[in-house]
Amino acid sequence: MLKLLSLGAGVQSTVLALMTADGTLPRVDAAIFADTGWEPATVYRHLDRLAVVLDAAGIPLHRVSNGNLRADSLDPAHRYASIPYFVRNPDGSDGMGRRQCTAEYKLAPIGRKARELLGAQPPHFRRVPKGAVAEQWIGFSTDEISRVSDRDGVSYIRRRYPLLELGMSRKDCQRWLTARGWGNTAKSACVGCPFHGNAQWRDLRDNHPSEWADAVAFDEAIRKGGARGLPLNGEAFLHRSRVPLSAAPIDRVTRREWADRSPDIFDALAELGDPDGCSPYGCRSGTAVA
Ligand code: SF4
Repeated sequence: MLKLLSLGAGVQSTVLALMTADGTLPRVDAAIFADTGWEPATVYRHLDRLAVVLDAAGIPLHRVSNGNLRADSLDPAHRYASIPYFVRNPDGSDGMGRRQCTAEYKLAPIGRKARELLGAQPPHFRRVPKGAVAEQWIGFSTDEISRVSDRDGVSYIRRRYPLLELGMSRKDCQRWLTARGWGNTAKSACVGCPFHGNAQWRDLRDNHPSEWADAVAFDEAIRKGGARGLPLNGEAFLHRSRVPLSAAPIDRVTRREWADRSPDIFDALAELGDPDGCSPYGCRSGTAVA
C-alpha cells in the first residue's frame, strides 16, 4: 500500500519526516506539503532543509497549492474562503468567522495529489482506480488525540498516526528534534493566522518585522470582512482581543505560555545533550492510543 506523509513542516510532521528518512519508521513513498503561499520565511527555509534529507532518502517531496490565501482573501474577483477571524458584532457581542481556509488551501490540494499518486487521471484527478489505497501519515501527537477523526474519510485513504503509536507528545517531539539539531523547528501556520497565540505574535513583531507589518496590514484590510467576505456589519480582527493587531495586548503572557516556559528535567537533559533524556523511548511509558 502506498504510504504518504502529510507534511505540515511543523514540529510533529518534521519528526515523522526525519524518522522515515533515517529508518526509525518505515519508508513513506512520498511527502506532501500544502503551501498556502502565506507561510513565514522560516517555514520555507525549514522545508528546503527537510527536502534535502528526504531527497537523500529517496523520498519525493511534493509541494502542492490551491493559490495564495492572503492574496485570494483580499481579491474581489476571487471566490472567498473564510478565515476564522474574530468578529465584533454591531450589537457589541463577539463572533467568529468560519474556518474554510484549511480545507480549501491544505486538505484539498493534499487530497488531489494523493489521488493523483493513486492513479487518478488528469485534469481533475477525481477518480481513484478501484482497489487503490494509500496509508496517510498524520503527525498528531498525544496532546492532540482529540483531533483524531474519521469524519470526512474516503475509502481510498487509511489514516495513520505514528506519533500516537509511539506515545509522543509535542514536547517529546521538540526534545527529539533538539537532540538531532532540528530544535529551531517552528510551528507552521500562515503569517496572519488568527489562531496565533500572543507568543507567536510577539515573535513575529520582535524577530520578523516585515512579516509583522504584513500581518498588521492584512488585519487592517479585513476589518470589514475582506474583499468578498461576509459583508460585515460588525468588524473582523486577527487578534482574539478584537483590537487592531498593531495595538492588541500581545505582551500579556498567558498561563499556558508560562507553563511552557518552565524548564523540566527532560529539557535540561536535552540541553546538556544527554541522548536518553531526549529520547521519547527513554522517558515515556507509552501514552494510551485511542
Ligand atoms: S494556518 Fe490559520 S489561516 Fe492558515 S490555513 Fe490554517 S487556519 Fe487558515
